[in-house]
Amino acid sequence: METLFTKIINREIPAKIIYEDDQILAFHDIAPKAPIHFLVIPKKPIRTLNDLTEEDKPLAGHLLFTAQRLARELGCEDGFRIVMNCNELGGQTVYHIHMHVLGQRQMHWPPG
Ligand code: 5GP
Repeated sequence: METLFTKIINREIPAKIIYEDDQILAFHDIAPKAPIHFLVIPKKPIRTLNDLTEEDKPLAGHLLFTAQRLARELGCEDGFRIVMNCNELGGQTVYHIHMHVLGQRQMHWPPG
């Protein structure tokens, strides 16, 4: 089922896009929870982390590596946090997998 992230990929709704290639898209979160808060998503509409398959391994690595590179480019070299919420109990609200990258403030543990 299509989510609003598909609409962002297809430019049907606007977003502040940071990076794009043939496989992934990164854009700023609409409701940032830190001075830097962006999302890195695959263009392939995978609903949850539970739906990731063996064939998605290179894609998962590409997402992670891009998140690391963009965090550094956006000034988070001193530290940042990556979060992926899975399903309702994990706090997921948009059913198209995404990495949250948060930075430029002190993070705390455990998260809520
Ligand atoms: P989740 O709760 O699924 O882990 O994260 C979904 C994230 O998407 C939230 O942080 C939320 O603020 C963000 N979000 C929801 N709708 C939009 C939108 O239309 N544009 C952007 N840029 N982010 C959105």
